[in-house]
Amino acid sequence: MIFLMGMAITMLLNSCIASFFSYKEVEKISYSEFMQRAAEGKVESVVIDETDRVIYIYPSDQDADKDKVEVYYTGIVTSDTELTSRMEDYGVDMDAEIPKKDSPIVNFILNWVILPLLVFWLLSMVMRKAAKGMGGMGPMGGLGGMGKSRAKEYVPEGSKITFKDVAGQDEAKDSLMEIVDYLNNPGKYRDIGAKLPKGALLVGPPGTGKTLLAKAVAGEAGVPFFSLAGSDFVEMFVGMGASRVRDLFKQAEAKAPCIVFIDEIDAIGKSRDNQLGSNDEREQTLNQLLTEMDGFDESKAVVILAATNRPEVLDKALRRPGRFDRTISVTQPDKQGRIDILKVHSRKVKMDETVDLDAIALATSGASGADLANIVNEAALRAVRMNRRVINQEDLFESVEVIIAGQQRKNHIMSRDEREIVAFHEIGHALVAAKQKNTQPIQKITIIPRTSGALGYTMQMPEEERFLMKKSEMLEELVTLLGGRAAEEVQFGNITTGASNDIEKATDLARKMVTMYGMSDEFGMMGLELPGSQYMDGRPVKTCADETMVKADEIVRQILEKAYQQAVAILRENQIILQKSAGFLLDKETITGQEFMEFIQGTEDESPVPLTE
Ligand code: ADP
Ligand code: MG
Ligand code: ZN
Repeated sequence: MIFLMGMAITMLLNSCIASFFSYKEVEKISYSEFMQRAAEGKVESVVIDETDRVIYIYPSDQDADKDKVEVYYTGIVTSDTELTSRMEDYGVDMDAEIPKKDSPIVNFILNWVILPLLVFWLLSMVMRKAAKGMGGMGPMGGLGGMGKSRAKEYVPEGSKITFKDVAGQDEAKDSLMEIVDYLNNPGKYRDIGAKLPKGALLVGPPGTGKTLLAKAVAGEAGVPFFSLAGSDFVEMFVGMGASRVRDLFKQAEAKAPCIVFIDEIDAIGKSRDNQLGSNDEREQTLNQLLTEMDGFDESKAVVILAATNRPEVLDKALRRPGRFDRTISVTQPDKQGRIDILKVHSRKVKMDETVDLDAIALATSGASGADLANIVNEAALRAVRMNRRVINQEDLFESVEVIIAGQQRKNHIMSRDEREIVAFHEIGHALVAAKQKNTQPIQKITIIPRTSGALGYTMQMPEEERFLMKKSEMLEELVTLLGGRAAEEVQFGNITTGASNDIEKATDLARKMVTMYGMSDEFGMMGLELPGSQYMDGRPVKTCADETMVKADEIVRQILEKAYQQAVAILRENQIILQKSAGFLLDKETITGQEFMEFIQGTEDESPVPLTE
């Protein structure tokens, strides 16, 4: 960007300079006027410039306008071959410009090296000034400048964040608490000869509270806390990042004991040995960071905290002892953790007595702290929309669905036909789930479209939090996932595009059973794939030969086919209930799991399933 700007300005300057030097332009006159003036004796001398095809006309003392005009010019008229003799007659002194023969190299250097450098230097001066100006503003204060670190001394003000604001994550908190304690009472540790870890790396999925924990450390520490993001080091200029690192450590040492926090450190800490597009700047920055971490004075209590959700891409050298020697895992919250997080966030809002955070926590398995904070806030917004002063359970549940499926699309009009297909599809899922033993209970079925594009959905909820899944349960889950499509076929003898998400999920599950969980007879205990990324959902990495994968694909297909046939069989057997409950759903648009179970119970009682085959 800056480089481009430099170029643009240079080019402008070039053309300006050209015009400055080649024309001693003051006033243009016509050739005839020139002849007339020469005849009247108003011309002292002329200089003919063949290169630029200009005649410069210097007025004589007789010219009345002489004081105003220093030189006139006009074009060369080639057909006027008698110019020379006429000038002689008028007594005008004639001369010709000697064509400029400046060396192209000098020209090049002048225009493309010296000038750009000059412009660059000017620009950088301006930027430096600007950066300094900005640094002075804002409550955090900053040190601007190009090679200066952008670390901000983070001063928690007003309502400071403490460990109380971080729910769950007890192990992470203990680990951090120890560091804080060391910084406050170093003597206690030194007496016994214990050394503090130089660096601690917070790792965990996005939104689990890594940044929040670091802020809490700042709030608890009672020592200076420098905070900056990995991307702050990344600059276009090679060497700038490294110089920022150097500067950061200089600052930190001056303020010791203190904590330096580098958020999203993967921006600079990526492994250096990936061949694809090596990045000099990043490598230099990383090298500098490694050197500084090794080099700085151990007696000075400076702790480097860093956070990342992609620990697997970090350079191994960063994590060796003596650098980030402690890894603090920040985990996806379990049910109790989710209850605690919901409690922390509900302190800030008003809730009525219908609210049951347990139920919300149960329904949000897999949600991160950030999701939960978002759910509470959405619920508050919904309460306001509904003109209520407090949040109730319905608000919370609805916002869980908003987070999962998007907002309701109230004015999305579907044809009678399509609504019917959607109703059968959703009841297909629900009925197949209800007719199997190990499935999760149905929570809700709806055919109100959502902004996410879902035309309807069936929500299932576990009775308790689960950490393991049995093979039998996974197989039944597959049947449930494919129940929607099966219902379309059983009822209409035709299928729609509506099952694409189900197919995606089912294929993913079946594939993992074969390639990762060792659940196929054909491959047994052999793993064929590794998860691509620990915390982010990346593509799995294949660890087997291509031909093996071809076989695995075939096994996955068979598993899915079998599950689908099973779903079709269940629905054929219960087609009357399928039809009746689809009608019920069409009528009500949204039904709870309980209503659904009661409805199919009632239907079965009045018309028992005929024992076919
Ligand atoms: P990340 O791990 O991606 O850095 P953040 O620390 O930025 O996540 O968390 C985002 C938000 O989620 C926080 O500001 C907070 O509101 C909420 N949050 C996450 N984890 C927790 C937690 N354990 N307790 C309370 N709030 C949390
Ligand atoms: Mg973060
Ligand atoms: Zn479906």
